[in-house]
Amino acid sequence: MMPASSSLPLRGRLLKQEPMSRHTSWRVGGPADQLYIPADADDLAMFVQSLPAKEAVHWIGLGSNLLVRDGGLRGTVIMTSGALNGLSALNESTVRAEAGVASAKVARFCAERGLTSGEFLAGIPGTVGGALAMNAGAFGGETWKIVAAVETLDRQGKRHTRTPADYKISYRAVSGPQNEWFLAAHFRLHAGDSTQGKTLIKTLLAKRGATQPTQLPNAGSVFKNPPNDHAARLIEASGLKGTCIGAACVSELHANFIVNTGGATAANIERLIAKIQATVKNLHGVTLETEVRVIGENDE
Ligand SMILES: Cc1cc2nc3c(=O)[nH]c(=O)nc-3n(C[C@H](O)[C@H](O)[C@H](O)COP(=O)(O)OP(=O)(O)OC[C@H]3O[C@@H](n4cnc5c(N)ncnc54)[C@H](O)[C@@H]3O)c2cc1C
Repeated sequence: MMPASSSLPLRGRLLKQEPMSRHTSWRVGGPADQLYIPADADDLAMFVQSLPAKEAVHWIGLGSNLLVRDGGLRGTVIMTSGALNGLSALNESTVRAEAGVASAKVARFCAERGLTSGEFLAGIPGTVGGALAMNAGAFGGETWKIVAAVETLDRQGKRHTRTPADYKISYRAVSGPQNEWFLAAHFRLHAGDSTQGKTLIKTLLAKRGATQPTQLPNAGSVFKNPPNDHAARLIEASGLKGTCIGAACVSELHANFIVNTGGATAANIERLIAKIQATVKNLHGVTLETEVRVIGENDE
């Protein structure tokens, strides 16, 4: 396959030494060696195939589930948010959304068209790509329950269309073909009532506003709920609400959230995560597994 440099020119934006704190909802994270914002899917395919075979590649959406360490990321970050923006109806029950579209936008798009079952996406502050990678869910809804197919891109820049049967899908975990990333999802929804859908979205958002610390940078639930229990309950019962390391604190409003109260480092957050895990294990015998993904290098 021809490298991009000897075929069409790349049309996206390549940023060098880009601070990841600009691209994560916790507002922490050191620099990425380089970060690429593609012009569109064709441009991205060319860019990916032009990378050296051994280059590490990290895809991100809105960074709302990511803890990037203070030493940053070696290799190349590909950012879909603000780039892969296509959103359209394929037929009366199927919506195609590219990986960089905000999940909330998909929820509104579906509700506008009287399509139901996508309302839960309204409160998830990430992209479609992130929702697919995480099997994001809320209020009983789950991303892969409404996926009919996905379009992917592999390391050689080749595109594929896959079905849910190609993936192992569970609670906040998805595994499938290696070295392939999501370009778009085809969501299959049910015919419903537009007004009811919009009202449900408003109700779900109001519930979030009342129970989550929306004023301070955070990454949503830090830990997965263990079987038959809630991480927040265990953390609160361990007396950890309000516990801080540096400027990283366990939220007073929702114990499964860690908030950056101003100037926290990734190391502060990671240490607080370890402290919560050790305390809950010690007091309740339960191992809390992180839902947030921790990536990158420690600061020297
Ligand atoms: C206030 C708040 C509330 C939240 N509430 C919820 C909730 O109710 N339910 C829930 O499930 N989550 C929730 N989250 C977590 C987060 O929003 C979701 O996990 C979201 O789906 C992540 O999307 P993102 O675009 O930000 O992904 P990122 O954080 O950028 O990435 C997350 C993971 O997805 C991978 N990824 C991203 N894009 C792609 C792609 N195109 N192809 C392959 N892999 C990709 C990344 O490599 C990374 O491993 C919340 C977060 C916040 C801050």
